[in-house]
Amino acid sequence: MASSLQTLVKILRLEQSKEHQNRAVIGGFGRFAYHWAREAHGQARTEAHHTLVDDIVRRLNDYENSSEAERPGLLEEIIALVTGFTEAEEAVVAAPPPPVTQPAPSQVAPQPRPRQQPQRQQPPRRRDPRHHDEDDGEIISREFEASPLDDWFSGGTTVQHVEEKVTVPQSVRERRGYAWQQHAPASADALSQMQTTIRSLKGVGDTRAEQLNRLGVGSIRDLVYFFPRKYNDFSRMKPISQLRPDEEVTVIGALERIQAIPMKKGGKRIEAYLNDGSAALRLNWFNQPWMEQQLHEGESYMVSGKTEQYLGRVIMNAPEMEELDADTLHTGRIVPVYPLTKGLGPRTMRNLMKDVIDAWAPKLPDSLPIEVRESADLMDYWDAISQAHFPDSDDDQQAALHRLAFDELFTLHVAMLDQRRQWQSRQGEALPVTDEWLKEWAQSLPFTLTGAQARAIEELRKDMSSTAPMNRLLQGDVGSGKTLVAASAIAIAVENDVQAAIMAPTSILAEQHYTGLSNVLSNSPVGDRVNLALLTSNTSPSDRQAIYDGLANGSINVVVGTQALIQQGVQFNNLGLAVIDEQHRFGVAQRGALREKAAGGNPHLLVMTATPIPRTLALTLHADLDLSVMDEMPPGREPVDTRILQPKERERAYAFIRSQIEKGHQAFVIYPLVEESEKLDAGSAVEGFERLRMSVFPDLNLALVHGRMRPDEKEAVMAEFYTGDANILVSTSVIEVGIDVPNATVMMVEDANRFGLAQLHQLRGRVGRGGHKGYCLLVSDQSFLDQDERLAAMEHTTDGFELARIDWELRGAGDLLGTQQSGHGAGLVSFANLMDQRLVGEVQREAHALFERDPDLSDPNHKMLADRVQIVLHARESGDIS
Ligand code: ADP
Ligand code: MG
Repeated sequence: MASSLQTLVKILRLEQSKEHQNRAVIGGFGRFAYHWAREAHGQARTEAHHTLVDDIVRRLNDYENSSEAERPGLLEEIIALVTGFTEAEEAVVAAPPPPVTQPAPSQVAPQPRPRQQPQRQQPPRRRDPRHHDEDDGEIISREFEASPLDDWFSGGTTVQHVEEKVTVPQSVRERRGYAWQQHAPASADALSQMQTTIRSLKGVGDTRAEQLNRLGVGSIRDLVYFFPRKYNDFSRMKPISQLRPDEEVTVIGALERIQAIPMKKGGKRIEAYLNDGSAALRLNWFNQPWMEQQLHEGESYMVSGKTEQYLGRVIMNAPEMEELDADTLHTGRIVPVYPLTKGLGPRTMRNLMKDVIDAWAPKLPDSLPIEVRESADLMDYWDAISQAHFPDSDDDQQAALHRLAFDELFTLHVAMLDQRRQWQSRQGEALPVTDEWLKEWAQSLPFTLTGAQARAIEELRKDMSSTAPMNRLLQGDVGSGKTLVAASAIAIAVENDVQAAIMAPTSILAEQHYTGLSNVLSNSPVGDRVNLALLTSNTSPSDRQAIYDGLANGSINVVVGTQALIQQGVQFNNLGLAVIDEQHRFGVAQRGALREKAAGGNPHLLVMTATPIPRTLALTLHADLDLSVMDEMPPGREPVDTRILQPKERERAYAFIRSQIEKGHQAFVIYPLVEESEKLDAGSAVEGFERLRMSVFPDLNLALVHGRMRPDEKEAVMAEFYTGDANILVSTSVIEVGIDVPNATVMMVEDANRFGLAQLHQLRGRVGRGGHKGYCLLVSDQSFLDQDERLAAMEHTTDGFELARIDWELRGAGDLLGTQQSGHGAGLVSFANLMDQRLVGEVQREAHALFERDPDLSDPNHKMLADRVQIVLHARESGDIS
C-alpha cells in the first residue's frame, strides 16, 4: 500500500508543479486512476485500504473533469487524504498495540483539509482559458504525436522536440484564442454589442466582474461562450427505493442520522442516511473523520456513487456529496455545472448565465448557410448555444454540442479549401520533366522504387509540371522511403534550373538527409549540376555567410537544413521547391516561412509526415493539401513480431532480451513518457534503469536516455548505443527521430497501454531495421477490455493508418488531435472527442458541396461564413509571416 501511495503523492506533487494541467501523467488522471487502482488494490491489506483506494480513484476522476479553478483544491484534498492516512498508519505501527476494547485515539488520522472547503488560495495560473501561456522561448513538447489540429487551434506555433529554441512571440500567443472567436457571431451589430464588458450587466459590479475575469470572462460575449464543464441530470433521478446493488447512480435526499462509529481495527466509520421520502440509503465513509464536519443533518444533498450490497441491503460507500441549493433540487431538469471561482457560487453563476443566455442567444445570427443546416440536419445556432447551456433533454444537449463541433470543423475545412484556392491562384513556375528523364532518374537510384514511391513521384511530377503550385502532403510510415520521393522532387527542380530546399526538425536528421541526398543526387542525371549545402545551428558563422551568399546568387541550388533555413538572412535566388520533412513538428507559420523565402515566387511545396492520420480525418484537417499515401514498405523488411505480455511474464521478456544480446544484438527498454516532464518521466526510466542494471542485467552494459538530459548528453549516450558499446538502451519515448541502429532487434515497452497506438507503432519502427528480425514486447496489464482490443491490434497489424483508425474509434480523436483542447469555454466537453467519423464525413460532404456552389463565398448569404473563414485564415497566417 505504502509504495503505491508514495507514487501517487509524487505524481500529484508533479502535477502541482505543472500548474494543474492534468498533464503529469500520460493520458491524464482518469486513465492513470484506472491503472493505479489495480496496483493499489493489489497492495491493500485492509478494508480501510480498499475504501481509501476507491475514494482516491473517484477523486482522481473528478480531478480530470474539473475546471482549473477547482483543481488546486481537489489535488490538495487528495494529498491530504493520503498523508492523513499514512500518518495514521504509521502511528499505528509506531504505537504499542492498543488494548483490544478501547480504540486508540492516536489511530485517528490527523485532520486533513476538509473535503468540502478546498483551498482556493492559489489563483489559477491561466487567467484566460483562451490563451495558452507557454513561456517565451520554451520548447513545447507533448507526450502524444503532434497534432495537426494544434496548428489550427494554436495559431500555428506548435513546435515539438525541435532542437533549436523557438520563440513564441507574444502577438501569436494572443491570437491563440481564435478558435473561440470562430464562434463569434459575425454580424457587426450583435458582435460589437456583445463586446461590451460584463460590468454593463445587471448585478455585476466590481467584485463580480473581478471574479468573472479570473475565469477568463471579460465581455458578454465571453460569457455566452463560457460553456458548462458538465451537466447534472435531475430529470432522471431514481427514487432510493428502486436502487439495485452495483449501480452507478446519483440520488438526492435529505441527510439524517449522522454518526461516527469506531472500527474494530481502529479508525472511524462515518455513517449517515439519505432519505428521499421513498426510502433511506445508508452511506459509509471509512477513515475520513473530517467527513463528519462536512455533513449537515437535515440538508439536501446530491449523492453519487456505486451501490453495493451489504447484509442484504443496498448501501453506498464513500460517495461523492454535493450540497444542493433548493433551487436546482426541484428543477427536475438537466442543470449546467460551470467552472467557479472563489466567491462566485454555482447559483449566482447559473442565474447570471441564464439571464445572459435568455437575452442574447436569440440575437445570435447563424453563420452557417441555411442549405447546409438543412442538409446536415443541424440545430439552429442560437438554439445550440442555449441548449449547450441549459439543455432541455439529453438529446438536445447532444444535438447542441454536435452543432458547435460541426461549426468548428466546417469553418476550418472551408478555410482550408479557400486557402488552397488562394494559394493556387498565385502562379508558380512549371517544372516539367520528360518520361525519358524520369526513367533515367529512377534507374540511377540505389533501389527499385516501391509501387507506392513510384505513385507518389508520379503525383508530384504532375503537380510540379503545372504553374499552379503543388501543395502536397506525403504520408508514409517510418521507413516507407519518403526521402527518395523528396529526392525525386528535388531532382526535378534541379533539372529545371530552380533552387530546392528541404527543412528537417533536427540537426541530426538534416545531416542524415544531407549525406543521403548527396549520394543519390551525385549519381543521377543531374549529378554534375547539383551544388548542395547544409545549414544548421552547427554551421559556423563564416560557412553560414557563404551559404547565404550562395543561396542569394543561386550558385547553391539545393540546401538541406533545420529552422536555420528560415532565419533572417536567408534569401533565395529562385526557390522552386520547398520540402518539409516531419511536418507535424513544425507550425504552420514555419512552413509558410520557408515558402515565403522565395522572393516573389510561389514555390511548389511538399510536406512529409510519418504520423498516420486516418484518411478521412486527414482530408479535413489538411484540406488545403493534396494527399499522397505511401502504404507499402520497401521489400525485405520483415514485420516486427509483436507480443503483449502480462507483468508477470517480465522475466521471460528479460530472458528473451538476453538471448538476443547473446546473438550480438541490442535492445531498447521503453518507459512511459510523462510529457514535458522530467521528474517523473526520468524518474521511472531512471528507476527502471537502476533496477535492470543492478538486478536483471548486472553483467551487461546499459545506457539511459531521457528527455531531461541535455542534448549533448543525449547524443553521447546515443553514440554509445549506436557503436554497440551499450547492449541495452533504457529510454523514455523521446528517442530521437530518424536514429537508425540497425543492430537493435528487441524493444520492450513497459506500461504499453499508456501509449497511443500510433506512438507504439512509431516506437517499434526502430527495431529490425538492419535485416534482422525485429521483436516488440508490450508489457501491459490486460484487465481492461478496451485496452486489450487496442493492444491486440498491435499484434495483428503493421499498418500505421489502420492503427490510427482503431485509436480514433476506441479513444476518440483526442490522441490524434493532441492533448490540447480547442480553447472552447473553460473546461467544457472536449470537442475533439466529438469529432468522430460521422461528423468528419458530414463536414467534408457539406464543405465540398458548398465550395462547389460558391467557391469564393461571394453569395450574400455566405457573407458571415466568409468572415469567419477570414478569422481562421488570419489566425493561421499569423505568426512570423508578414
Ligand atoms: P522514411 O519514410 O521514414 O523517411 P527513409 O526514406 O528514411 O524512410 O527510408 C528508410 C530506409 O529504406 C532507408 O534506409 C532507405 O535507404 C531505404 N529505402 C528507401 N526506398 C527503398 C526501396 N525502394 N527499396 C529498398 N530500400 C529502400
Ligand atoms: Mg524520414
